[in-house]
Amino acid sequence: MYKVNKHRQIENESQRLKILRPKVQSAIQKLEKIVDDTSFECPVCLDTIKDAHILHTCLHRFCGACIKESLRKCNDECPKCREPIPAPDRQLTKDQNFDSLVSSL
Ligand SMILES: [Zn+2]
Ligand SMILES: [Zn+2]
Repeated sequence: MYKVNKHRQIENESQRLKILRPKVQSAIQKLEKIVDDTSFECPVCLDTIKDAHILHTCLHRFCGACIKESLRKCNDECPKCREPIPAPDRQLTKDQNFDSLVSSL
């Protein structure tokens, strides 16, 4: 009797792990993205971001000049993750918080 219970317990446990694993993986991916997104480095010029702008589609951050130049040259896709950006003029927002954060360093 005890053995059967134990076996069932292990089965339940492995079932639970199967369900949990993709959740843990997606949580790690989200964390990696957050760490990635808080980088002070512009993916275009590889310098500290100046006049920060954020792309709404993927939330990546660039210098205002770099992202505008890049969107003009690269068929409206994010220079960092290659996500297509429809109507890029409407997807760009100035990130004032970031600018004041950088200037306070
Ligand atoms: Zn830049
Ligand atoms: Zn992106």
